[in-house]
Amino acid sequence: MKLLEYQAKAILCEAGLPVPKSELVTSPDQVESALEKLGITVGVIKAQVYTGGRGKAGGVKLFKSVEEAKQMAEEIIGMTLVTHQTGPAGVKVESVILEEASDIARELYVAFLVDRSRSSVAAMISPEGGMDIETVASETPEKILKIYPQVGSPVSAEACKKASDFLSLEGDLADQLADVLNRMFDVFQAKDCSLLEINPLVVTGDNKLALVDCKFAIDENALFRQKDVDGDPNAEKSDAEIEAAKYDMSYIQLDGNIGCMVNGAGLAMATMDIILTKGAQPANFLDVGGSATEEAITKAFNIITSDSNVKAILVNIFGGIMKCDIIANGVLNAVKTTGLKVPLVVRLEGTNVKQGREIIENSGLEITFAENMADGAEKAAAAIQ
Ligand code: GDP
Ligand code: MG
Repeated sequence: MKLLEYQAKAILCEAGLPVPKSELVTSPDQVESALEKLGITVGVIKAQVYTGGRGKAGGVKLFKSVEEAKQMAEEIIGMTLVTHQTGPAGVKVESVILEEASDIARELYVAFLVDRSRSSVAAMISPEGGMDIETVASETPEKILKIYPQVGSPVSAEACKKASDFLSLEGDLADQLADVLNRMFDVFQAKDCSLLEINPLVVTGDNKLALVDCKFAIDENALFRQKDVDGDPNAEKSDAEIEAAKYDMSYIQLDGNIGCMVNGAGLAMATMDIILTKGAQPANFLDVGGSATEEAITKAFNIITSDSNVKAILVNIFGGIMKCDIIANGVLNAVKTTGLKVPLVVRLEGTNVKQGREIIENSGLEITFAENMADGAEKAAAAIQ
């Protein structure tokens, strides 16, 4: 689950990190009172959206008066922000923060993330703050330092020294960096983060560090113990994904026109592959999981058919724990309740496959039963010709 900047900054501030003061605003008429509360007339206005690269897209601006702040709020709230991370559709801005301006002398980069290949947490540190770290990594990888702090212990004095040397920070600034690294590492662990990125970490004109921008992502598997975190787990999900999740199913939207109902991620991948080898493209796949009920199968079917790109449906299910007759009944129920507007091919294998096949074949409905995966994909591909 990603947090918006203001939600993340509230957590970082609470953890004692140097975060500029800010106020959230959802309409231009709140600007004046927010600025009064902050005691500023000069500052930064920042769109609150789940994407980086806002600055270049017009989502981060400096204002020099209350009037200007209001005007910018009018412009930014409600706009669709297209950044290099959003794709052409962009994201709609619902709110902004007004923040005291930081007097920026240098922009640095610090991030904590999970390094899966080393089964550890890594901190990435770079003097090239304010830039895309991917660009730094590909063009000047020598400008990134990686350290691997020990989970459960503070970041060692030695690692902190390495980091401050790498960033050419001395004296009090080096001490401030050590404090920032340690507090960030504490937050990273306490909140079950998968990513905590500060870009830029700023050195101000009067030699103070300030966390000017951040990305904050919590591992979704840990959300059950992060219930008090202010964030929206469904923020970036489509209606179909949210609906599927209610039944413990995963729905993934793709670009083609064959809707796929499968069980298990491995079978989903294999189904995608075989559809592609038959010259067709999957429109989506819905993984109903290992123990879906008849009701869930019906729901799954409704979700798949609600996608107007779907021109044929392939059901490819291996009945291990789940029995083929249950799946067949679920499919029939769904077809009876929602109607069948596109060709449906069903391939079942496993427990009670004979009963499953009989149910489908005796249904009187126009459903094609496939002998195996290749046959199923071929029949689905042929149906859209
Ligand atoms: P992003 O574009 O989504 O990563 O948004 P950021 O919050 O990182 O802002 C982009 C850039 O705007 C930063 O790298 C800074 O150069 C600039 N910026 C942001 N806040 C301030 C500020 O308080 N003062 C000044 N002078 N520049 C700022
Ligand atoms: Mg940034």
